[in-house]
Amino acid sequence: MPDFDFDLFVIGAGSGGVRGARMAAQAGAKVAIAEEYRVGGTCVIRGCVPKKLFSYASAFHDDLEDMAGYGWSADNIAFDWTTLRDNKNTEIDRLNGVYLRNLKASGVTLYEERAVMVDPHTIRLTNSDQTISAKTILIAVGGWPFVPDIPGSELGITSNEAFEFDALPKAISIIGGGYIAVEFAGILNGLGVDTSIHYRGPKILRGFDEDVRDGLTEAMTARGIKVITQSDPVKLERAGERIAMHLHDGATHQTDAVMFATGRKPNTANLGLENAGVILGPDGRVVVDEYSRSNVEHIYAVGDVTEREPLTPVAIAEALAFVDTVYRNTPTPVDHHMIPTAVFSKPEIGTVGMSEEHARESHAAIDIYKSRFRAMRNTLAGRDEQMLLKLVVDAESDRVLGCHVLGPDAAEMIQMTAIAMRMGATKADFDATMALHPSAAEEFVTMREKWTRPESQA
Ligand code: FAD
Repeated sequence: MPDFDFDLFVIGAGSGGVRGARMAAQAGAKVAIAEEYRVGGTCVIRGCVPKKLFSYASAFHDDLEDMAGYGWSADNIAFDWTTLRDNKNTEIDRLNGVYLRNLKASGVTLYEERAVMVDPHTIRLTNSDQTISAKTILIAVGGWPFVPDIPGSELGITSNEAFEFDALPKAISIIGGGYIAVEFAGILNGLGVDTSIHYRGPKILRGFDEDVRDGLTEAMTARGIKVITQSDPVKLERAGERIAMHLHDGATHQTDAVMFATGRKPNTANLGLENAGVILGPDGRVVVDEYSRSNVEHIYAVGDVTEREPLTPVAIAEALAFVDTVYRNTPTPVDHHMIPTAVFSKPEIGTVGMSEEHARESHAAIDIYKSRFRAMRNTLAGRDEQMLLKLVVDAESDRVLGCHVLGPDAAEMIQMTAIAMRMGATKADFDATMALHPSAAEEFVTMREKWTRPESQA
């Protein structure tokens, strides 16, 4: 049995890597981790956390619009971007410090440089040029924004840079129709940027429930965001201080900044995984089994690099299951069933389980319950925005298959609903639960009328 420098070497100190390293060390393993940018990874440094902070910042715009109806007035209210950006950075530095301290306290050796694979058990650190051997390797390198290869693409930014504008642009065109595109559209619109979304498909948020997609498009449009679908930029060009975005149909759109939110790809380029014999999928993902094990017996991968569900709690759950499997003698597959997700758009989306469309494809008969109404807060505010709550129910078993919310606090609601859904709650269980009044969520337990498709849509 050869001697190794470490029992476990983790490449990437993001959500999955840090949790895997700490827990393995707690279970008694000698662990090292390498990070080429900042410990904390995408979620903490340039993903979920700063995004949510910006989302809170832009929500004050709604408060300012809504407060007059509640009797409040205020003069000389102004927004200062640099204060927000710098305070966000201070908070990110604090969290980065917490992550560093936690790693140190658990006895993990940290290398703050890029790591690549040299052979199945050897890692090279690219700055110091050290080589290190490990019995087990955990690949947790996450993903990276994908930018389409069009002329002038270097004039555009991605979400990475959108967190660090020197000054906010007057106008921005966001290319893409996924959750990062709509979240940044809501944030920047709320902070006063003239915002448009260009998406090549027919409707934003592919994969989400159609009612939610339509409801969000309507609400974003009412807020002044231009949602331009079937629009495919083919070239970017400098136009003085501005950028000219040429579209597939020959039209040109002038703007001050272009942000690509055109998806993310597993971060496996030049990682040397071929030297270790690890099989990658066509998109560069590490192909793993239910225990996060690659085709090489002692090499595992968790988080976004495996392209299962690219979400922070999922990366963490996969890392914990890896530790249970390898270091606690408890083989633990990861359950990717009923994962609740939120989109912090304006208004917010929370969703768990199947969309109506998905359920219709996989079930013989389904019932739909939905309620669209003006949230109470919007009444005195004079805001017309509609809230949507929707349940997708299996007509045979009465099981709730999908639950969707568009409106304030959708994320908070759906986290709790996900528990009931995982437990197999039926519509009758929802109906038997006492309403909490006055709340928006009470609609979930008071919807009695099945929705029937209007003749015009049949
Ligand atoms: P990461 O957190 O990306 O960590 C990978 C780390 O590896 C990085 O720090 C990277 O620098 C490092 N690395 C890469 N290659 C090497 C190498 N060769 N050597 C050393 N280090 C290396 N998820 C949610 O659940 N909720 C949200 O609201 C949410 N919002 C998001 C918003 C944005 C704008 C983005 C981009 C992502 C968001 N996500 C959200 C997704 C979430 O950030 C990821 O799912 C999560 O960070 C994945 O964790 P991970 O450990 O797989 O990778």
